[in-house]
Amino acid sequence: MVPLSYQSPRIGDPITSDEYLIIDQTARAEIVNAFRNFDVTVTANRGARFKVEVVPELTDNRLIRKGTYAGESRAVAGFGGSGFVNFEYLANGAMVFAPDDATREQIIAALGRGIGRVAIHEFLHQLLPKAAIHDSKDRDSYEGNSPALIEGYFGDLHWDIAGPWLEARLKPRPE
Ligand SMILES: [Zn+2]
Repeated sequence: MVPLSYQSPRIGDPITSDEYLIIDQTARAEIVNAFRNFDVTVTANRGARFKVEVVPELTDNRLIRKGTYAGESRAVAGFGGSGFVNFEYLANGAMVFAPDDATREQIIAALGRGIGRVAIHEFLHQLLPKAAIHDSKDRDSYEGNSPALIEGYFGDLHWDIAGPWLEARLKPRPE
């Protein structure tokens, strides 16, 4: 993840480099956990077949608005895919959805989870480019619109309708 400058009245001082490390580790742990039953390796290798990069912000050029969506992906049939996560969107979400009594530490962890979960969602689009994963109505799922819900930052998520599709697409993790 690239070092970014982010500040919010909700947490006061800008996010520190140590906190960026925690955000990065929390996001990676979230991805590892989501795919724990499958024979996949989560790596920092930029040459990976499927990849998601965290960028400071995403701008939809058609709308000319900043920070209006959390992630996007391109899949290359039979080869792999690449996608992006909008840091600014997730950081704003973590601030907005944080309960009043949440500590800075808890908000930083929530931001890491939020980023990891959008990355998981983008990997899902790359692995299953034709699947209607947005049909899920489960607020606690990776398939749904987690970045726009408090569940995307606090609490646990699970696979919903994409579970069986992933089982068909990926090998199980060897025992
Ligand atoms: Zn999606």
